[in-house]
Amino acid sequence: RAKEHGRNQYHLYNLSMNAQTSKRLAMETNLRKAMEREEFFLNYQPKVNVKTGRVVSFEALVRWQNPELGLVEPKQFIPLAEETGMIIQLGEWVLRTACAQNRAWQEAEYPPMRVAVNFSPRQFQILRLADMVERVLAETDLDPRWLELEVTEGIMLQNVENTVTTLRRLSDLGVHISIDDFGTGYSSLSYIKKLPINTLKIDQSFVNDITTNPDDAAIATAVITLAQSLRLSVIAEGVESEGQARLLDSLECSEMQGYFFSRPLNTAEFPPLMNKLHWRRDMPNNTSIH
Ligand code: C2E
Ligand code: MG
Ligand code: MG
Ligand code: MG
Repeated sequence: RAKEHGRNQYHLYNLSMNAQTSKRLAMETNLRKAMEREEFFLNYQPKVNVKTGRVVSFEALVRWQNPELGLVEPKQFIPLAEETGMIIQLGEWVLRTACAQNRAWQEAEYPPMRVAVNFSPRQFQILRLADMVERVLAETDLDPRWLELEVTEGIMLQNVENTVTTLRRLSDLGVHISIDDFGTGYSSLSYIKKLPINTLKIDQSFVNDITTNPDDAAIATAVITLAQSLRLSVIAEGVESEGQARLLDSLECSEMQGYFFSRPLNTAEFPPLMNKLHWRRDMPNNTSIH
């Protein structure tokens, strides 16, 4: 009896495994076709400086709209794209689209600002990554100083020499380098000395409860101090409330990004924000910080 029960359970377990595997397979098959079917698009989320009230940069965030699966979250398909190696092709598409869009906005005489593109650690395994970036910049006619790369600490986990060389070359061209999700990935700080970094991006997990959790506030303060001593810029991501914005501002972190300022926007929604100044912290009655 018990044995039978056990068998049944095993059987059920097996079935649900199959369901998961086939879901993954369907996702993988769809993902392979997504590029030629033009199912990817980008949203843009501004990064603002509350001292000047200006957008300093805007981050390109990839979206996948599939007829069968609907709108798929990056959290669901980026890891799959990494595992299958498709991130190489997708990453180049994101870069080209973001650079071309930035150039188009510059030609339309919006104030020039950087476009930030996320790069997966996996992309740093390509030996000619810097060549690829340089080629895309040339093809889209974008000055390298208007490009920012967001990389995570994970890039230091393998092929360190190639990664350092690649980032050096891009930095020498004038590309801005930011460490995304700072403080969540890799426990050694020594990589900061090896890389040509411009900005530390405080991860949203330290920002979420910053007004109520003294530990989070302490970590954010430490990152801000570290950035200041190393003469790097610092930005906080995932800022959702005025309280968080005010606290970060009082800690001398004047660059911020998050729903409080703006959600990621589509190509039509973003341009009106590019001329906006009303994120200044010193505006009368700081409700206008938004
Ligand atoms: P990330 O680069 O750390 O981006 C921040 C994520 O937080 C984005 O999610 C963004 O929409 C979300 N976010 C922004 N402001 C707030 C806020 O105030 N509150 C909260 N709760 N969330 C906020 P998204 O777009 O779903 O992207 C998730 C991750 O997927 C990104 O994290 C990035 O690691 C990855 N990703 C997105 N686009 C690309 C891409 O083109 N290439 C690569 N390699 N990775 C990408
Ligand atoms: Mg990012
Ligand atoms: Mg981030
Ligand atoms: Mg993050």
